[in-house]
Amino acid sequence: MTIAGPGVEAAQRAGAGARPRVVIVGGGFAGYNAARSVARRMGDAAEIVLVSPTNYFLYLPLLPEVAGGVLEPRRISVSLADTLPPTVAHAQGEVDDLDLAQRTVRWMDPEGRHHTTGYDRLVLAVGSVHKLLPIPGLSEYAHGFRGIPEALYVRDHLIRQIDLAAGTDDPEERRARCTFVVVGAGYTGTEVAAQGQLFTRELARARGLGENAVRWLLVTRGEVLAGLDEHLATTADRVLRDRGVEVRTGETVEEALADGVRLRSGEHVPTRTLLWCVGVRPDPLIESIGLELGEGRLVVDRTLTVPGHPEVFACGDAAAVPDPGNPGRFTAMTAQHAERQGKLAGRNVAASLGRGRRRPYRHRDLGFVVDLGSTDAAANPLHLRLAGLPARTVARGYHLLSMPGNRLRTAADWLLGAVLRRQSTQLGLVRSPSVPLDTSSPEVPHHPRMSFPPERSVGDREATS
Ligand SMILES: Cc1cc2nc3c(=O)[nH]c(=O)nc-3n(C[C@H](O)[C@H](O)[C@H](O)COP(=O)(O)OP(=O)(O)OC[C@H]3O[C@@H](n4cnc5c(N)ncnc54)[C@H](O)[C@@H]3O)c2cc1C
Repeated sequence: MTIAGPGVEAAQRAGAGARPRVVIVGGGFAGYNAARSVARRMGDAAEIVLVSPTNYFLYLPLLPEVAGGVLEPRRISVSLADTLPPTVAHAQGEVDDLDLAQRTVRWMDPEGRHHTTGYDRLVLAVGSVHKLLPIPGLSEYAHGFRGIPEALYVRDHLIRQIDLAAGTDDPEERRARCTFVVVGAGYTGTEVAAQGQLFTRELARARGLGENAVRWLLVTRGEVLAGLDEHLATTADRVLRDRGVEVRTGETVEEALADGVRLRSGEHVPTRTLLWCVGVRPDPLIESIGLELGEGRLVVDRTLTVPGHPEVFACGDAAAVPDPGNPGRFTAMTAQHAERQGKLAGRNVAASLGRGRRRPYRHRDLGFVVDLGSTDAAANPLHLRLAGLPARTVARGYHLLSMPGNRLRTAADWLLGAVLRRQSTQLGLVRSPSVPLDTSSPEVPHHPRMSFPPERSVGDREATS
């Protein structure tokens, strides 16, 4: 989609009567909700362009269920075109240059062509990417968990390891293939370990290995779900240990190797699987802009406006939003904050264009859910402490209500999952080199000989649109 050619002036300077153009970068929790919110308030009085590399909104909290063979990937990939108001135009691509002085945004589309557009209002909602640590072998042997390609890779990989384990006569190889190491026990690592263990145990039983052949380690420097409510943390820790997951708190990985990992304690764990879930950092585009950062995130005021740039807003994981509940701190990187901030950014963009009044960011903690598969979960809706089946019911209900689409299909997968075994076919469509850990674009598979996603090199200003 070509919005405008290179060097085109911002819409507000194109002549009297031109509709203001709002460009939103990122189509995740924050960007998707910002687009909806501006569209609802502005109607067709504004041109709204959402730039993102995928044509769907990804409901990330259910990604572990894709890796665990419970949900098909399209269930949690909600079509932008089908669910956003028709006044929002989607430009598929990845932004690789922002010029705040000229008020232009440039992106590369999936076929490698550059496009540039001017804007009157800009919303930056580019989210976050994997946080890496300087550990030998990490980028070669570990995989992250943030996008559909990675979830598909992990799902196939788990099945492949069990299939290969069932096919070998070498007990050491079998043991290594049946050992799975997850590093990081935030909600991503905890849920991946919980779902992955259930899935591989079922596979091992079906392949005649016996479910006890499977060994999962959850390695974390701190405690499980550190920073979340204590009830959630202790419930998740207990459920995982009861199921036989080896929870190694106060532990780290010192080296990743082709045949295993070496822990700080000196123990060598033979494995072919290292899943890196050690938190996130803001998308590198944020740092390249050259504005003030707080903990790597773009500093905004309480109305989500970038200081010195009243036409630029930021929200979600990429933004350092002052937390009204914790003075002096920024809001946590969660879907709940991102969604609410997106809605507010949309509201404040409309207010800056003469519709309504700006509001500061406020939030009320309505609780959190952690889904651990089977009949296990932990939840604290409205500070009510739930575990087991009641928590699982609340978690699933919460997810269905929060998803902007595909609810019936998701519920149907869950119903089928209650009576049928998980499917164990490997499609092999996403191979290891397509999902490198060190990437600024976990949402799209990498094809070394193709140009998408682009390298984030600012300075190449040639545009082909
Ligand atoms: C596996 C997993 C499970 C999680 N579970 C929970 C949970 O249970 N509860 C919870 O509260 N939080 C959870 N989170 C965290 C939550 O998903 C994030 O905090 C939330 O997605 C942040 O929203 P966002 O819009 O800022 O970023 P994202 O949702 O990541 O969206 C960023 C968007 O920006 C796009 N983008 C990035 N760079 C560019 C670019 N250069 N040009 C154009 N577009 C770009 C991306 O493609 C994407 O569309 C989970 C995260 C993961 C990875």
